[in-house]
Amino acid sequence: MITLENKKALITGAGRGIGKEIALKLAAAGADIAICDIDLDSARQTAGEIENLGKKSLAVRADVSDADSVHSLFGEFSNTFGTCDILVNNAGITRDGLIVRMKDDDWDSVLRINLRSAYLCSRECARPMMKARQGKIVNIASVVGLMGNAGQTNYGASKAGLIGLTKSLARELASRNITVNAVAPGFIKTAMTDKLSDEDKEKLTGQIPLQILGMPSDVANAVLFLCSSLAGYITGQVLTVDGGLVM
Ligand code: NAP
Repeated sequence: MITLENKKALITGAGRGIGKEIALKLAAAGADIAICDIDLDSARQTAGEIENLGKKSLAVRADVSDADSVHSLFGEFSNTFGTCDILVNNAGITRDGLIVRMKDDDWDSVLRINLRSAYLCSRECARPMMKARQGKIVNIASVVGLMGNAGQTNYGASKAGLIGLTKSLARELASRNITVNAVAPGFIKTAMTDKLSDEDKEKLTGQIPLQILGMPSDVANAVLFLCSSLAGYITGQVLTVDGGLVM
């Protein structure tokens, strides 16, 4: 059985969707969890559900693309929980569009929220993790960062960048017993994919060998594994959770 008893975790963008599912899964395995989201109400909602599981929780409103906001987030985390054992960089957005119509703001906001955020949060927790000589960082990338997707140059670039960050940071922190991995979900049923038309969903499902969309719990299971001692000898890897879409 996987246990995260006595571990303190921070999950970004955990007010809903995949991040919320990861938070609940890690709490069910015994971790205390800080929920960060740009929307405080949803962060509080997830934190309440974690407390119902008998674990400590902290809800923080933070914009993970902003350095000052991230600095205060980690300040609050350390005042409440001490050292961060597990960081899951999950917050992410899409602003899709063909490149000829792409707005600079859509390019910049996707890169800031999906990639800069992981740099900022990892920078904040790296030093205390190095001091503690242990830690787990999991970045939520996407199959789009591996295979590309028309209409998602900004999103694909952010997720491919996140994979590069994962591998470089894994090499940087390995000597201190800190692992850094990425999970690359395929198409998962959340608000992000609910935006797709039924026709697009059908087309996508047709390309997935397992022939169904994934669920947030499929991604959360992979994250739980990578955060556990079972994955102690795994670092710098990208684990696809995509029904076989990329192989
Ligand atoms: P989601 O339902 O839209 O959830 C994303 C969460 O991040 C929301 O709670 C959102 O807050 C929060 N957020 C957005 N900007 C933020 C910011 N600047 N600071 C802090 N929090 C912020 O998305 P999801 O589908 O669960 O996706 C989670 C992650 O998985 C993302 O990185 C996404 O790229 C990745 N992913 C998803 C899929 C999929 O099929 N769903 C596939 C591959 C990868 P609000 O509620 O206020 O918007």
